[in-house]
Amino acid sequence: MINLTGKIALITGGSRGLGRATAHCLAQAGADIAILDIDDQAATTVEEVKALGRRATFQHTDVSDNAAVREAVASVEQELGPIDILVNNAGIVKNIAPISRMTQEAWQRELGINLSGPFNLIQAIAPGMAERGWGRIVNISSAAARGGLYNQAGYAATKAGLLGLTQNVTLEYAGKGVTCNAILPGIIGTENVMAMPQEIFDQAVRLVPTGRVGKPAEVANLIAFLCSELAGYINGVDILIDGGAALNTVVLGSRKALKS
Ligand code: NAP
Repeated sequence: MINLTGKIALITGGSRGLGRATAHCLAQAGADIAILDIDDQAATTVEEVKALGRRATFQHTDVSDNAAVREAVASVEQELGPIDILVNNAGIVKNIAPISRMTQEAWQRELGINLSGPFNLIQAIAPGMAERGWGRIVNISSAAARGGLYNQAGYAATKAGLLGLTQNVTLEYAGKGVTCNAILPGIIGTENVMAMPQEIFDQAVRLVPTGRVGKPAEVANLIAFLCSELAGYINGVDILIDGGAALNTVVLGSRKALKS
């Protein structure tokens, strides 16, 4: 059974979507929760966690700012205690353009949030985990890390970069009781995804053999497992959670064969 009683978990980007679902799930498993986000709506998630009987706090922090992250982590540790679990979830998908027209500003901002953000959090938190001999780090990458995403070079590159970071954290910290793994979600029914134009949404769902988008709670359950004692020997890996979408060529191929 997943039991996180007594653990303190820091989740970035917890105002909505996967971060909020993860805060609920880890709190239900017994963890106290800290959220770092630039959206003050995260205060609502904090209230929801407190209603579950857990301690919770929110720091308005831009994860791309190394100094601000260090300050926020110090405040969280003063308020709740040493951080045992880090979920690097905050990320943006706003930079949509062909490479020839992608601006330097948009490219750098995406690198800053999606890749330097997790690095900043790991740099601030992992050494303490190692000193205490226990820690769990989960980096939220994307299925785009493997297959790319048309007109989203920055997104795909940062999410693939996160896999390299995950592997190196494992190499450095595995001997000190710390695990670091990455999750690669496919299409998950967060607020942003459910607001997609219907035609694009339907097209995306057609590529999922399971025939639906994933539920944020389904991703959160996987994160909770990786953060638990049960997952102590899973280290340095990236796990797809996509309803089988990565196999869609096989599915489309079989359908075509049946019709012929
Ligand atoms: P979301 O709904 O956009 O939530 C992300 C949260 O992160 C928002 O509260 C956002 O604040 C915050 N954030 C953005 N920039 C930040 C910064 N610089 N510092 C701190 N917080 C920041 O995202 P989601 O759909 O739940 O996805 C969560 C993660 O899963 C992301 O890393 C995403 O790439 C990954 N993912 C999602 C899916 C999916 O289908 N949803 C699929 C694959 C991977 P603002 O509201 O101010 O932007």
